[in-house]
Amino acid sequence: MSSNETPTQTNFVKQIINEHNSSGRFDQRVHTRFPPEPNGYLHIGHAKSICLNFGIAQEYGGLCNLRFDDTNPTKEDVEYVDSIKEDIRWLGFDWDEREYYASDYFETLYEYAVKLIRDGKAYVCELTGEQIREYRGTLTEAGRESPYRKRGVDENLALFDRMRRGEFPDGSHTLRAKIDMASPNLNMRDPVMYRILHAHHHRTGDAWCMYPMYDWAHGQSDSIEGITHSICTLEFEDHRPLYDWYIDQLGIHHPQQIEFARLNITYTVMSKRKLLQLVRDGIVDGWDDPRMPTISGLRRRGFTPASIRDFADRVGVAKKNSTVEVALLEHCVREDLNAHALRVMGVLDPLKVVLTNYPEGQVEEMEAVNNPEDEAAGTRTVPFSRELYIERDDFMEDPPRKFFRLAPGREVRLRYGYIIKCEDVVKDDAGNITELHCTYDPLTRSGMPDANRRVKGTLHWVSAQHAVDAEVRLYEQLFALENPDDVEEGKTWLDNINPDSLAVVQAKVEPSLADAAPGTHFQFERKGYFTVDSKYSAPGAPVFNRTVTLRDTWARISKQK
Ligand code: ATP
Ligand code: MG
Repeated sequence: MSSNETPTQTNFVKQIINEHNSSGRFDQRVHTRFPPEPNGYLHIGHAKSICLNFGIAQEYGGLCNLRFDDTNPTKEDVEYVDSIKEDIRWLGFDWDEREYYASDYFETLYEYAVKLIRDGKAYVCELTGEQIREYRGTLTEAGRESPYRKRGVDENLALFDRMRRGEFPDGSHTLRAKIDMASPNLNMRDPVMYRILHAHHHRTGDAWCMYPMYDWAHGQSDSIEGITHSICTLEFEDHRPLYDWYIDQLGIHHPQQIEFARLNITYTVMSKRKLLQLVRDGIVDGWDDPRMPTISGLRRRGFTPASIRDFADRVGVAKKNSTVEVALLEHCVREDLNAHALRVMGVLDPLKVVLTNYPEGQVEEMEAVNNPEDEAAGTRTVPFSRELYIERDDFMEDPPRKFFRLAPGREVRLRYGYIIKCEDVVKDDAGNITELHCTYDPLTRSGMPDANRRVKGTLHWVSAQHAVDAEVRLYEQLFALENPDDVEEGKTWLDNINPDSLAVVQAKVEPSLADAAPGTHFQFERKGYFTVDSKYSAPGAPVFNRTVTLRDTWARISKQK
């Protein structure tokens, strides 16, 4: 079933929203947010969350904010902020003027913390990080209370103030919520709210030397923004009681948190830590390497915003973690490009063909269809001459019976051109085939009497004298294993990298492609969908990335299921 036939399906997130709308819990308001931490580039998993949050807001006539959860100054950077904004816009979503930062709320969060201290719900603790872990206990064993837990309100207020004013070194003091060291939920065992960190923040500069923990900042940030539905991934289910507790203690607006399963895809890693390592170690060519699952990588590879939105839609939202076949993502981009990409001819592994009976110096302009799926795309002409290139593997000297391409004595049609017959194979001293000598049948061109004569094979080609040299980059999956984290003993996930994930070839492409603009999509007939590389391509010297081949493995996989 193609995407445009898929009805807007309901899912458990929408069911919850519908219930709220009928009970009037949020006065029919739907206000979501996408809350990235600016510590890396966005990936396809984030795209799913973006489509879900912005999509739900659109569907219910509500709003979706962009909020940077920037509570971790040592790992964050404006480069990431900028890339995140670019990627969300490219995906087709808009947050209008609602661009927020958790760091905008540092002062409010501080006041909230003071309120908790005043209410006897928070205390300054002097255990070290290691001691805090030790005191926390385990899933089967209750924790122990910190010796600093019984401090009086005034002492806590004074110490917290001194923390803020920079009187203590990193790691010496924390502010902790006073909840329950025996709670079966470890997140409730007096979690840390603030840690001291004398670090420069990309937005607040040196104004703060202590920073809120993510768990202390996140729920309150949602509340401050009036978010109704805080959609997040499953690992935060166990944090929900803590977020609820904070908000109830503070008596502020209470969003509903809803958890859904993270997107995982075969043959890829999705952890930002691992993606950063691939970049830092130079294993890939930056965050936007076309093999990366990042949005910028997918864009450079030739994926379209529509294909990614379609993918997110088809994957849907689930309550249970699972892994989606990368073939489905590729299927989505094929569908979109099939409808929209212009068809052209390019030969990836050129073998010269000389038409011995074709007049020297003659050039004919053959009319070629730009997109059979789209009449409005029109036609173009492609020059045809005595010397051409075809794909080396479209010829076999000693072919098996079912080989319907070119072979000695056999005929094929050249797309939009003539039927040719292979008369002679020319080899160098080492026995390698250097060119083919063929004859053409002048009556088989379109408009001629034998135009409809049928032969088994049709090959793409380019005219040697008119062809443009192009570098073409062919990709395979970055990892050789479906699950790259499936690691043998003594090895790491990096050992699962596919050594053949990139092959660079020197191709000959039709002249219309000489100055193709970066980001333009093409189908090279029979060879796949390609896009002009945004980093290395130059006018007159185009570089192409293959987005996907034409072979749709998803169709096969989904049939088996
Ligand atoms: P980190 O582990 O560094 O926190 P993260 O992937 O959770 O990384 P965030 O920047 O916190 O990164 O993510 C922003 C939003 O995107 C969060 O709401 C998160 O739940 C969601 N998200 C992240 N990864 C996925 C994924 N694989 N599938 C769906 N949503 C995701
Ligand atoms: Mg996160």
